[in-house]
Amino acid sequence: MKISHRIANINGGGSDGWDVFLKARGMIAEGIAVTELTIGEHDIRTASPILQEMHRSAMAGHTGYAMVPGIDDLRDTVAARVQARTGVPTTRDNVIITPGGQAALFAAHSAACDPGETALYIDPYYATYPGTIRSVSAVPRSVPAHAENAFQPRAKDIAAAAEKGAVSLLVNSPNNPTGVVYNRETLDGIAQVCKAHDLWLISDEVYDSQVWEGEHISPRALPGMAERTLVVGSMSKSHAMTGSRCGWIVGPEEVIAHLVNLATNTTYGVPGYIQDAANFGLKQGAEVEAEVAEPFRRRREKAIDVLASQNTVTLVPAQGAMYLMLNIRATGLSGDDFANALLDAHHIAVMPGESFGQAAAGHVRVAMTIDDERFIAALKTLCAFAAELADK
Ligand code: PMP
Repeated sequence: MKISHRIANINGGGSDGWDVFLKARGMIAEGIAVTELTIGEHDIRTASPILQEMHRSAMAGHTGYAMVPGIDDLRDTVAARVQARTGVPTTRDNVIITPGGQAALFAAHSAACDPGETALYIDPYYATYPGTIRSVSAVPRSVPAHAENAFQPRAKDIAAAAEKGAVSLLVNSPNNPTGVVYNRETLDGIAQVCKAHDLWLISDEVYDSQVWEGEHISPRALPGMAERTLVVGSMSKSHAMTGSRCGWIVGPEEVIAHLVNLATNTTYGVPGYIQDAANFGLKQGAEVEAEVAEPFRRRREKAIDVLASQNTVTLVPAQGAMYLMLNIRATGLSGDDFANALLDAHHIAVMPGESFGQAAAGHVRVAMTIDDERFIAALKTLCAFAAELADK
């Protein structure tokens, strides 16, 4: 039977960038101890009070179909969180609850793009971005953010890509994989290009609770942007609720109304007990979010000390999110070759920069998602290994 081109082509025919990760998992299955610094998953689990609320809600009977746009309480809480952080008036009619940020990215592109239209995204990028765009039958076009510009995308590069015709731009700050937080100049440039070229801006802000340096600015708050911005949020990173699959889109009322139709015909919403738990979690306030983020803040500081004591590996400014992007070009190897060699020689798994696009070639991404001691030991080994290769 013929399978639709759309589904068969989601990965675009190339490697999906998970080779090193899968090789590491294969080694683990064979009984080899591998230090995994690959995926963005906390080493803590969802906090007990949130789980207790989930249990209470389920026992109270919230196990039936929930309201498709999301339960009113949670939509109100998300709207209040966004309004408090951005100053942009926001009500529940600006919010739809989705099964995680990933489903929100799919829904946002469904709203912005017709089949065959071009959707822009910034390279380096979170691994699913081009596939998400292809999933709605749109055509992904990447815009490089250069290592030389500390991975802050430049307005002129985005404008050059938009001039060839595009309907949307996807950005992500704090950024996965680079750990960079977009500064005001970058965001003003992005806003200007979106207005000049009539682009939807899809702003993936799932790491907004993990900012170590600088300030998280939501581009929805910039002049004239609220009507063309779809903000993607999630409980996954802020509350260590990756498995609960609860996220949202914040955007203009009219778009949200259409997205409710999409949800009715696809996901049919998010379980009520998950939404009650998410609402409870959000209502605990920023302190709880800071607690979840704390281990990454701490490990980042320790990592900066380790990296300062050598001169082979250089750190891309680590301003936010749970990753460090390391430039290993002094070794003469590609990120792919370095990651494979490190895995073979020292059983440490990191993600090659090339898994996240060409702009991150010659880099590796290290997830700060294991305990401090093992994390720092692995980082020291990585640096020593890089120094040996550079001396050869
Ligand atoms: N955006 C970015 C940048 C991410 O890193 C992730 C998860 N790693 C997601 C979106 C999706 O997260 P979730 O679906 O768990 O909310």
